[in-house]
Amino acid sequence: MTDKKRVAVVGAGIAGLACAYTLKQNGYDVTVYEKNSYVGGRMSSRTKDGFIFDLGADHLCDLYDRIKYYCNAFGIEWEKMRFLKYAILQKGELIPFADAVGMLSKLRFTWQFFLAKNIGNFLDLDELAGQDTDNAYDYMRRWAGKDVADYYVDAFTSTYQFHRAEEISVAALKGIMKSIETEPGRWHLHRTKGGMQALPNAFAERLDMRLDSPVKEIIGGENVTLVDSTGTAQTFDAVVLASQATVSHKIYKNPTEKQSEILTNTNYSSSISIAFRVDRKLLPDIAVVWVPFVENQAISGYVNEAMKGDEVIHDGKTLICAWLHEDFAKTLLNKTDEEIFAAVKPELLKACPWFTSVDQLHNHDLERWTDAMPKFSHGHLQRVSDFMHEGQGANNVFFCGDYLNGPWTEGALRNGERVAEQLIKAL
Ligand SMILES: Cc1cc2nc3c(=O)[nH]c(=O)nc-3n(C[C@H](O)[C@H](O)[C@H](O)COP(=O)(O)OP(=O)(O)OC[C@H]3O[C@@H](n4cnc5c(N)ncnc54)[C@H](O)[C@@H]3O)c2cc1C
Repeated sequence: MTDKKRVAVVGAGIAGLACAYTLKQNGYDVTVYEKNSYVGGRMSSRTKDGFIFDLGADHLCDLYDRIKYYCNAFGIEWEKMRFLKYAILQKGELIPFADAVGMLSKLRFTWQFFLAKNIGNFLDLDELAGQDTDNAYDYMRRWAGKDVADYYVDAFTSTYQFHRAEEISVAALKGIMKSIETEPGRWHLHRTKGGMQALPNAFAERLDMRLDSPVKEIIGGENVTLVDSTGTAQTFDAVVLASQATVSHKIYKNPTEKQSEILTNTNYSSSISIAFRVDRKLLPDIAVVWVPFVENQAISGYVNEAMKGDEVIHDGKTLICAWLHEDFAKTLLNKTDEEIFAAVKPELLKACPWFTSVDQLHNHDLERWTDAMPKFSHGHLQRVSDFMHEGQGANNVFFCGDYLNGPWTEGALRNGERVAEQLIKAL
């Protein structure tokens, strides 16, 4: 008999895995349930014809301190991308960022960077919630001009969030601007050798995993009941719901008012990641291209995967990987792979001057994301912050994931660690 507290973690994305690992390190008996046959969720990769294709998250930044910490602890190689140049699409051409707007707009935008210096850390929503005064698009249009709003702010949001800048809080944007201003070198792009899958796999090797195990139902209480895919019910001292908020909303049967409020009010953009095999020599050494919505309403951004080196270059071929803007993605989510490839090719041709014919794009792989990115919209930041202080852990059910902290893999992982600490304090 063991007197260890038993905890189930639902969802083996990077947030759930970091949470489970932290709990295990602190003496808890942890079981992780994952609906897929692989771990990582939106941080995972698939190898096909020798090419590693990152299905969701594509690149990491040097400022991802916790991700770097675990890579180091687990012996995963942290590699700098081979080239780091960015470009932005304007009137069919790819131009350097600095040339995308006129001098006056640039000065006004620079002033906004200066004002952002007093804002909080973008990887901690608690620090930003009090500064959430407006949506990013309207704010920047008013104070820096329409060009800045369209070519920097909306293009940034499209590329990294797949939705428009009206749906992101200006505090979230300014938190990122502050970091770019104060620690520019730390935004250098990196990857893990073996693709995005490497870190989730390393966590999973150290945990008690149940793969191919979608959880059907959670009923909170002094003991929490978990019903697995076979209909078998088990009880735990606590359950961490590290699935997307939309899923947690469906499977958690008796949420409190506060828990229900956060799940109901979390919205995601949709997207599709799509990769084509292309001749390496057609691509200049530009790593990432932002596609402003005013220029193209289908493609939100694309990357030259040759920046990742040997794991994505074979026989003179590499991958170009594009993400779709949410409205375009939604029209394609239910289509077949072939239909999606066919619909995207002409759009990519319009958004990418490196190609002159769709025949240069060879279908490689794609992944559909109904819930791609949580929207950190104006008004929502305070709700999230309040929840993390007051609603968390009721009924011995804890919520966890990128939607409760800040953006991207580092935000998700940090949230997993924070939720583990909250659970340890409560139990
Ligand atoms: C296309 C795309 C590109 C991105 N690019 C980047 C990038 O370049 N850099 C970056 O840092 N971030 C990027 N991100 C964001 C990043 O991937 C996410 O913020 C992060 O991975 C979210 O982790 P998570 O653990 O919160 O959620 P998830 O990874 O979604 O984990 C949730 C897990 O729950 C599982 N699950 C769902 N339902 C059940 C159930 N009923 N039972 C059991 N398990 C269940 C899912 O299968 C999944 O594994 C990108 C995301 C997408 C979609």
